[in-house]
Amino acid sequence: KLSKRLQAVADLVKSDSRLLDVGSDHAYLPTYLIQQKKIDFAIAGEVVKGPFQIAKNHVAEQNLQDKIEVRLANGLAAFEESDAISSIVIAGMGGLLISEILEEGKDKLSQVEQLILQPNNHEESLRSWLVAHDFVISSEKILLEAGKIYEIIVAEHGTSELNETELEFGPYLSQEKSEVFRKKWNKELSTLKKILERLPENHEKRAAVQAKKEKIEGVLQ
Ligand code: SAM
Repeated sequence: KLSKRLQAVADLVKSDSRLLDVGSDHAYLPTYLIQQKKIDFAIAGEVVKGPFQIAKNHVAEQNLQDKIEVRLANGLAAFEESDAISSIVIAGMGGLLISEILEEGKDKLSQVEQLILQPNNHEESLRSWLVAHDFVISSEKILLEAGKIYEIIVAEHGTSELNETELEFGPYLSQEKSEVFRKKWNKELSTLKKILERLPENHEKRAAVQAKKEKIEGVLQ
């Protein structure tokens, strides 16, 4: 059984896609999707030898070597055009690392239909990267598991413009304003309030913190 987070990622993968899972760790996600018969081919990419070997063993134990190729590779170097990859998952990493991986391999993305990204932080930078490289966000999810809040961003080729608020809070998430979304930003709000309490009246950073606080309050209204 997958974690709630990985299950949410799995649910967003298009049926019958040819999947690359970057940073697959134990290859849980591709194994699950193949066993559910949602997809029929996946590459599990791992840059670190330990997890690569564990993934390889796990795939062999399940007898799925003909459907899941485990490759030791950095980011998008794990696939070639001839693999005809149509969906790419990059999950469980920092948003900056995900952006870097996409940036390094951006010339290989033209045939890829769908990116399913689950950044652990820096969602704003990742959304900016996507928009700047002609990807449009087609859906977003936010969820709470074991006290942690995760965002998932799905993108496809296309152009769009996102304003500052949409980049930071998510174009869909900020419309939906789900309970988990409110929880995330209320937490941020209380952090900012505490900072303001501690900052001296004339401190140079006050204005920026105050502005950020008001921005969040505006979105949460
Ligand atoms: N994707 C899985 C998940 O969401 O549960 C595993 C997340 S794990 C925290 C991150 C994995 O990404 C690690 O196994 C790490 O070795 C791998 N990784 C980090 N940078 C990578 C890169 N540039 N290319 C491939 N794998 C990478």
